Amino acid sequence: MQDHVVIVGTGLAGYTTAREFRKHAPDARLTLLTADDGAAYSKPMLSNALRKGQTPAELVQSDAEAMAEELQADVLTGVDVRAIEVNTRQLVLEDGQLEYDRLVLALGAEPLPPPLDDQSEGRLHQVNNLQQYRRFREALGDEGRVLIVGGGLIGCEFANDLIDSGYGVDLVYPEALPLAGLIPAPAGEALARSLKDAGVRLHPGETVDRVRPHGDGIAADLSGGKGVRASLALSAVGLRPKTELAEEAGLTVDRGICVDRYLRSSDDSIFALGDCAQVEGYSLCYVAPLTNAARSLAKTLAGEPEAVHYPVMPVTVKTSCCRIVAWSPAAKARGTWQHDGTDGDLRGEFRDRQGDLLGFYLTGSRIRERMELSRAMAPLISASGA
Ligand SMILES: Cc1cc2nc3c(=O)[nH]c(=O)nc-3n(C[C@H](O)[C@H](O)[C@H](O)COP(=O)(O)OP(=O)(O)OC[C@H]3O[C@@H](n4cnc5c(N)ncnc54)[C@H](O)[C@@H]3O)c2cc1C
Repeated sequence: MQDHVVIVGTGLAGYTTAREFRKHAPDARLTLLTADDGAAYSKPMLSNALRKGQTPAELVQSDAEAMAEELQADVLTGVDVRAIEVNTRQLVLEDGQLEYDRLVLALGAEPLPPPLDDQSEGRLHQVNNLQQYRRFREALGDEGRVLIVGGGLIGCEFANDLIDSGYGVDLVYPEALPLAGLIPAPAGEALARSLKDAGVRLHPGETVDRVRPHGDGIAADLSGGKGVRASLALSAVGLRPKTELAEEAGLTVDRGICVDRYLRSSDDSIFALGDCAQVEGYSLCYVAPLTNAARSLAKTLAGEPEAVHYPVMPVTVKTSCCRIVAWSPAAKARGTWQHDGTDGDLRGEFRDRQGDLLGFYLTGSRIRERMELSRAMAPLISASGA
């Protein structure tokens, strides 16, 4: 009997793993399962598709059938995995079971529920996958104003994309500056200035208490007493790795599904990567980490175990009005920031007392210095185990 590798999830993590695996194991039995329609697309494109003039349909690179052909695999769509029975190595599906020898969890993350009184009757959207984006674009139409709740990476990118595409935007966030979780004040000020100059109405230090229908659109009550009217609202208040399946199966779970440098969970035959995984303590919901993980995992699954290498992988923020590349220091890191530059062309370095670089940001023309700074930092996980 052939070893059966099963991957749950056909996002970038699932499909990249499958593609890499095929390079090393052309004949292995491979099945992919997904709750969605299995369309292959690049999720980062969701927050800059409008200004690139792309419709949701144009974002689809291949449908599930074409992916099955390319990967020489079974791709089962619309299948919700209900449970994992680790003792018998079976997945429990809505109408049956599927056996695996090795299982890869590439389940992604889900948006946190908007922390507000939502009476909007479906006019408050969240976008973390292509189906949600299709609904958002349908509701958006060709003109109007969007209230964005949350000034993190996704909120700021959508604000930039919408304003560039002729929509009005109100951006509400409780912090003093946008992107406060990623960049310090000078860079946040540069971004706030650029968004404002582009026409975005900023509401720093505010939260949205309530969203309700108003005519064809919505009315929102902000914590400071102001009201905002818009065509619709978009909540972008953060993501939570999908860990329930793993937790119920008894796997070790923290912020994400805990895996070692071989992407192996607390069960030897179950692996995890992408937004759902916490790799040696790192829960990084970005493309570069999952790409590195997929390459190593593919070799491990093919019988040539390879530990993942995580260099510093700075985050590129797709705000065209103020280009930003950043790697924020760990929350517990001790050190000080030094800032350099003028206007929108800034460089900041966070160093400890020994002078070691622990974080940085670059904006505007300075983003070309990213490689120099990334290379100056120690890798997060070294493949050699150092
Ligand atoms: C708007 C936006 C912009 C972004 N921009 C960037 C960027 O510029 N750069 C960057 O590096 N990162 C960016 N990211 C993050 C990046 O896109 C994600 O880290 C990455 O796409 C996650 O891929 P994934 O495969 O882990 O998860 P997902 O793409 O979420 O895939 C999860 C898969 O698991 C399936 N699934 C889940 N539960 C079940 C179940 N129980 N049964 C069956 N199937 C299940 C789903 O159907 C889906 O197929 C952005 C994210 C968003 C939302």
